[in-house]
Amino acid sequence: MRPLSYTQISQYRTCPLSYKLQYIDGLRPKDKWYFSFGSTLHLCTEYFFKVKVPPPPSLEALLSFYETKWISQGYESAEEEAKYRAYGREILTGFWQIHHPDFRMPLAVEHMFYVDIEGVKLRGYIDRVDKLDSGGLAIVDYKTNQNLFTVDDLEKDLQLTLYQLAVQEIWQLPVERLTLYHLRSNTPCSCGPRAASQLDAARQMVLTVAESIAREEFPAVENQYCPCDFAEHCPYYRQQYMEARPELARQGVLPGLVAADAVEEYVALQSQIKELKSRLEELRQVIVDFCQAEGLNRVFGQEHAVTCKMMEKAGFDEDAVRALLEPVGLWPQVTSFDPERLKRLLDDEGVAKEIRDKIRALEQVLATFPRLSVRRLAKEE
Ligand code: SF4
Repeated sequence: MRPLSYTQISQYRTCPLSYKLQYIDGLRPKDKWYFSFGSTLHLCTEYFFKVKVPPPPSLEALLSFYETKWISQGYESAEEEAKYRAYGREILTGFWQIHHPDFRMPLAVEHMFYVDIEGVKLRGYIDRVDKLDSGGLAIVDYKTNQNLFTVDDLEKDLQLTLYQLAVQEIWQLPVERLTLYHLRSNTPCSCGPRAASQLDAARQMVLTVAESIAREEFPAVENQYCPCDFAEHCPYYRQQYMEARPELARQGVLPGLVAADAVEEYVALQSQIKELKSRLEELRQVIVDFCQAEGLNRVFGQEHAVTCKMMEKAGFDEDAVRALLEPVGLWPQVTSFDPERLKRLLDDEGVAKEIRDKIRALEQVLATFPRLSVRRLAKEE
């Protein structure tokens, strides 16, 4: 199996199909300005820190490097590109002013790594690794995200966890600090290292992803980034492309019905059913109230009559039945398997984890069935 990177693992976990389309089928995602912008700034931070001996480059050298490395792809207009180009200069000027005066040589910059996790190769590039006075290591990852990182972002960041795994294995030194460096505000957002249990969980997660890929499990999973650049190959969106790309259509129409008409009629009927159900309940209540107020058991219309009769729902008191049956050993014959109770038991920390894990391992798909859900499409401008 080929090595996995953090980006690939993360994409697989978000939507296995989009992972397959990009990394196995080789489809190329569209250029995006924010990837270009981020890549250009990453090259510049690398240029600044990757000197053989201090001092680091001057501000003029850094900005001139920036101009030569500017990546133009993905911007929507020349104005947008010019705006971000100026913004990048501003960010780098701030970066240089902060890091030039107390420049220290990092241990590694843009460090490429391969680590082995039980036969699965994990690969990546770490933006920067610093050696601390304490003898431990600090990992820095540059980000061009819009918003500053929260404590929660830092604690859940999978990339930092995987990088800690790699750094500890490569240098055999403890990692003491993890940092997501917010370039737009030149703010380092840091937290302590991951615990051994978190590193174990990350290793396990990498193995699980690798196993799923090896088993060729590539379902489409809708997520916040949908539709992605490969929507025309996705079962959630492909039908929209069928008219324009007939080769994508195996069957553009339902038997005797255009698919689009079937959808609209289905939604219209659903809404009518909802209205009818609500009116039916309203009338039922009117008739019941009338019968109760007038002491009637039947109300007549022109062609129909409705009978209103009080019904009783019989049942058993569980405790009383149990008290009777348990002593004679018959109680197990009337209790049945209750999936809801089982779910509650799985969440119950009072039950041994080993037992709960064993129960979870027994979970399997018992049946599959189609379920239709309706969403309103945004009107195009
Ligand atoms: S559109 Fe969404 S569900 Fe479909 S492949 Fe892309 S990410 Fe996956």
